Amino acid sequence: MPSEPCAVVVGSLHYDIVVDAPHRPAAGETVTGHGWRPVFGGKGGNQAAAVVAAGVPCRMVSAIGDDAFGVFLRDGLRQAGVDEAHVTTCPGTGSGMSVAIMDAGGDYGAVIVSGANLAIDPDMLGRDALWRDATHLILQNEIPEALNLAAAQAARARGVSVVLNAAPARDLSDALAEAVDILVVNAGEAEALCGQPVASLDEAKAAARTLARRFRVVVVTAGGDGVAVAGPDLAHAEPGHAVTLVSTHGAGDCFIGTMAAQMVRGAPLTDAVARANLAAARHVSQAR
Ligand code: ADP
Repeated sequence: MPSEPCAVVVGSLHYDIVVDAPHRPAAGETVTGHGWRPVFGGKGGNQAAAVVAAGVPCRMVSAIGDDAFGVFLRDGLRQAGVDEAHVTTCPGTGSGMSVAIMDAGGDYGAVIVSGANLAIDPDMLGRDALWRDATHLILQNEIPEALNLAAAQAARARGVSVVLNAAPARDLSDALAEAVDILVVNAGEAEALCGQPVASLDEAKAAARTLARRFRVVVVTAGGDGVAVAGPDLAHAEPGHAVTLVSTHGAGDCFIGTMAAQMVRGAPLTDAVARANLAAARHVSQAR
């Protein structure tokens, strides 16, 4: 990778199998589906790809199994342009994967298996080559909290800013909260973390203010309603862009990858949020 400012993602890789079926099976029922497709996934992998799509180099720390799914995932990172030199292959372990059954109405039920994502090698975090020219670390909640904490502390020790996308929502230790520079959550995650409903931009602003008592800076994305930012001496919000909705799948990952990429380039947070809001609006209006 050329020597220029870059981001590091420590996080998940999932081989997602999406099955199209007339309806989701009831207990004991076998349903005949009409198609399936493998999709490169995991919030970590998707966010790393979004950083690179926004024009900024990104290294990924993760783990895959020694199976065909792992080959698919490593190839997916390479095709996206993500540096996968710090992704380890774990013998005797299955890759992270999910099966989602999508019914005719577009609703789905899914099962997710973390697999090798639970076996990411913490020794990777001590490698100088991982952090060379890194300015931002991006974390999510699809790997163990202990690893997120170790990664955040390794980053801070090197002057690297820590962005945590607390998705899916789970309790966060005070030690991790202390090690995070910017928390990014969607409406449901904000509600789970602070107990306040988020069904409008005003409610997103209020939730961001509440969460900013515990985290340095908080970004709450509220889908098409907009984005709220709160921190010490910082209160910013912007409305969502009016677009024709095609699919919201991966909207949050696009938002976070774009936001982080702008900050790696040196943009102020509010400018980075504005660019991310626009990129994510375009993302949800495009067929994939
Ligand atoms: P997640 O995908 O994690 O649930 P959101 O639903 O808040 O998160 O979406 C993330 C971002 O995607 C939003 O902040 C916004 O920029 C964009 N977005 C999502 N839904 C819409 C929409 N209906 N119209 C315009 N932009 C959207």
